[in-house]
Amino acid sequence: MSRDNLFLIGLSGAGKSTLGRLVAGRLGRTYADLDDVLEEWEGVSIPEIFREKGEDYFRRKETEVLRWAAGERRGIFSTGGGVVVREENIALMRESGRVIFLDRPIEHILRDIVVSGRPMLRGDKQNLIALREARLDLYRKAADVCLANDRGADAAAEMIMDWVRRWERTGGIHGGIHMEITREARLAALLGYPLGHSFSPAMQNAAFEAAGMNCIYLPVEVKAEDLGDVIRGMAKMNYLGCNVTIPHKVAVMEHLDEIAPAARTIGAVNAVVFKEGRAIGHNVDGLGFSRSLTEETGETAQGKTLFVLGAGGASRAICAVFAMEGARRIYICNRTEARADALAAYINGSIRNCCESVPWEPEAMTPALRDSDVLVNATSVGMYPRGDALCLDAGLLAAGAAGAVAAEARAPGSGPPGAGGPRRKLLVCDIVYNPVRTRLLEEAEKLGLRTLNGLAMLAGQGEASFELWTGTKPPEGIMRAALERIAAKPSGTV
Ligand code: NAP
Repeated sequence: MSRDNLFLIGLSGAGKSTLGRLVAGRLGRTYADLDDVLEEWEGVSIPEIFREKGEDYFRRKETEVLRWAAGERRGIFSTGGGVVVREENIALMRESGRVIFLDRPIEHILRDIVVSGRPMLRGDKQNLIALREARLDLYRKAADVCLANDRGADAAAEMIMDWVRRWERTGGIHGGIHMEITREARLAALLGYPLGHSFSPAMQNAAFEAAGMNCIYLPVEVKAEDLGDVIRGMAKMNYLGCNVTIPHKVAVMEHLDEIAPAARTIGAVNAVVFKEGRAIGHNVDGLGFSRSLTEETGETAQGKTLFVLGAGGASRAICAVFAMEGARRIYICNRTEARADALAAYINGSIRNCCESVPWEPEAMTPALRDSDVLVNATSVGMYPRGDALCLDAGLLAAGAAGAVAAEARAPGSGPPGAGGPRRKLLVCDIVYNPVRTRLLEEAEKLGLRTLNGLAMLAGQGEASFELWTGTKPPEGIMRAALERIAAKPSGTV
């Protein structure tokens, strides 16, 4: 199916109908407000449908209308504010067209709102804020582009038309990437061997596209013996930078002109910036994790006690960054104990004396878990195709959680040293991202614990790479939304 329809999504009052009509008129394309179509099909108004047949019925009909729209060619459609609540609707829009999320300031919506009596539209500020909050992730997940509609209809229409023209010029010719790629295009790449499925190209290209940058990210398989030549070649070409993955994260260091201090301490590089013919290495794995932790949970490493399972490359990067960011204590527990010993000794010696190796045995793990604020699975256990594997016995997790909850109940000021008061419930993080909801996270949720999945870290390191290469932040939420879309596909197909 070609993607030449255009769907406008956003809260009621975001300007979808006004802009849809305006843009369709200027471009000479057909326009329909899908709520109007639904009312016409049903012969009654939407409030009446809600009142007489309920929301479920309305949503089913809304999907039928979308299915009709998806069968059209080059149509421009405005949608109801809740269209994104059904996955099927998002798929229909994205398969048959481009989706633009119109994000209009609540104050502007309130200023213009005609309280229409529609069930989802109330001219109440708190209600609108809550609705925006609840739907923001879904809007971003569905959207190819997020546009701020805060400078009037003409400005917003111009921006929409810019995107439509861009998609028309480039549509489909780059295998799913719809940016305009010219001689001035800058490149980025993922280097590894072999490269299995990778989420990074979709994530980075979504951000380049949404930022309107003439850049493209490619997966490139490079054998170990060719790595030096490839890095030297890229430094001379139009490459902004690259990510480096297994098995080259350590080997690449000898081919670089400069290595950032943090990457040197971590002992591995996973992001390279090319600048004036020079190759500069960074490590954004640990940074990606710490960023995602703060962005998603509001927590920072400062004063926290971590229990990290695993002592491989990812664990090393996470432990090093947390040691640098002021963690109180880091327990490192690995199946092969000697590797945990070596990592703890390395960080204690080269960064700060805050790590302790814990034997992979319940008697040793339980007290350390009870003393911890954050548990991180940095092993590969639980990863596709062994998604049913559990890296930590459920009983042990419960014992650790009980310790944290007991600590939480303590009087203020009597918490563990450095924590500055009672601790909150254990936060359970899994850096495995395929599947997104691992068994560890499922078990943690059953215990009522807070959780953080591996997509957050992946997006965090993707954003940090993007910033290193371009000097600007990627559009907010775009990478995470792109990852969520890929992850929604059945495991193993990406
Ligand atoms: P790595 O260097 O190969 O380390 C693998 C770790 O897993 C080692 O500690 C290993 O223990 C442990 N392990 C493997 N199989 C095990 C088993 N059956 N039981 C117990 N422990 C086991 O790999 P890595 O680069 O650190 O990556 C680890 C995981 O993190 C992978 O799943 C990777 O996809 C994920 N990751 C995610 C992100 C993200 O952005 N979300 C970024 C990087 C990595 P031994 O030392 O005993 O072998």
